[in-house]
Amino acid sequence: VITSLHAVPVVGDPRRATFRHELTFAPGTLPDAAWTTSVAPATAAVADRSTLPAVPAAYVLACRIGQDLRVEEALPLEVHDGARHVGRLLQRWYGWRPAELIAPIAVAPVRPSALRRRGGSGLFFTRGVDSWSTLRARQAGPRSQHPTHLITVDNEVHVDPAIRAATLQGTRSTAEALGLPLIEVTTDVRSILDPHTDWGLSTHGSVFAGIGLLLRRTLDEAVLSPTHWTPLVRPWGSHPELEPAWSLPGLRVVHHPGDLPRWQRVAAIAHDPLVQRSLQVCWQGRSERNCGRCDKCLRVLTSLALEGELASTADRFDEPFGPEAIDRVERSLPYPWTDIIDHCDHVGLAGDALRQRWERVDHTPPPELEPMTRPIQPRLGLVGPEGAARAPQEAIETVARRLARLGLRLDHGASSQEPAPGIELVGDRSPWSVRIRVPGPASEVPVPIAELRLEHLAPLLAAISADPADIVPFDPDGAPGTRISGQR
Ligand SMILES: [Zn+2]
Repeated sequence: VITSLHAVPVVGDPRRATFRHELTFAPGTLPDAAWTTSVAPATAAVADRSTLPAVPAAYVLACRIGQDLRVEEALPLEVHDGARHVGRLLQRWYGWRPAELIAPIAVAPVRPSALRRRGGSGLFFTRGVDSWSTLRARQAGPRSQHPTHLITVDNEVHVDPAIRAATLQGTRSTAEALGLPLIEVTTDVRSILDPHTDWGLSTHGSVFAGIGLLLRRTLDEAVLSPTHWTPLVRPWGSHPELEPAWSLPGLRVVHHPGDLPRWQRVAAIAHDPLVQRSLQVCWQGRSERNCGRCDKCLRVLTSLALEGELASTADRFDEPFGPEAIDRVERSLPYPWTDIIDHCDHVGLAGDALRQRWERVDHTPPPELEPMTRPIQPRLGLVGPEGAARAPQEAIETVARRLARLGLRLDHGASSQEPAPGIELVGDRSPWSVRIRVPGPASEVPVPIAELRLEHLAPLLAAISADPADIVPFDPDGAPGTRISGQR
């Protein structure tokens, strides 16, 4: 059962180099299909119309549909090796049968050494958190790592063309402000791949590697930004073990190391004025900006709030951020949930109100994911006439800091009107005392905050059915927060 890949000549706009590739599937399986990829400026792309740049995408599809892939053109040995590697990887991850790449082996090097020169380093660039943090990290690194070109790939075949055009215009302006030439690639390959495979999970890294091969006239390397943080790397369409396998002697496909968790990537770029004017994380496709409502937007907005950069990035969101929007998030995977909690914890008590919102989001892991947890300490409300709404900020902070040392948190949502169990502030200036309020007559003697201990709070903790295991002291001034707990 064999899929065949052909290159089809096209005549089109001379400013763009256009490539058309065609797949013929085994008889009676799938109808023939073709896709077009175009590159501007035309001079950035290879001059030949080889099938080579289409092999990675076609090969992944062949694995997915259980057919071998035949190419009549001779292909470099590295491509044969790369396909074998990717086939085994996809088998290990997803149980797919590795397709055989049936093609003659090319004897000549892809680019004769006489023509070799120091080419450029192209970075796939979406204006998202990952590509911005990769760009800034490589610019801060050794000169050999500095990107010389940005590559934007317009592949969102499902999104309104007007929004895609506006997004491209925004990327052009950003590249211009960065002083880097932008290579614009447009491809409809997803119209062929998406019915059979998942773009995020299995195909995008190979498609981008193929685009890198297409640009080897201009580039020595094509760099993809990491999605995952290295300690939590898992099967994904771009992966440190995947797209580098499609490298050729003249073109390295690089997966930039995922050294930083997501929140540290946001923290690393959030204060950059160019990032603030251009950040694009949302793929809801409702406008050329970020919707401000989806889970991904709300996570980035939370991190921007914790970095004090909400106002500077407000123009990039269709909807202003209010913490109550987090209540609309119904579910989150354990990661990124832990990532947001870590950012809150890094900030300390100043991030605690946002933490409380995210604590309510269900983050029960699906069975296939390792359980990851962070402590969710019991929260105590401020009650009485000096309830949370009316108590002096300094008093609230003093109580919160003392509770942190005891492994407890203040409830930011508690109302002073409720006859709920909680802590009542006593006195009208520092040093404050507190009275522990549980249902029934208030008979407790006030305790100075500095002397408050868990023994005093025992009746209150019993009244709110607190689990002693959740009582975990933490640093009110913040912590690095990158520890992975609950992982085997
Ligand atoms: Zn969004």
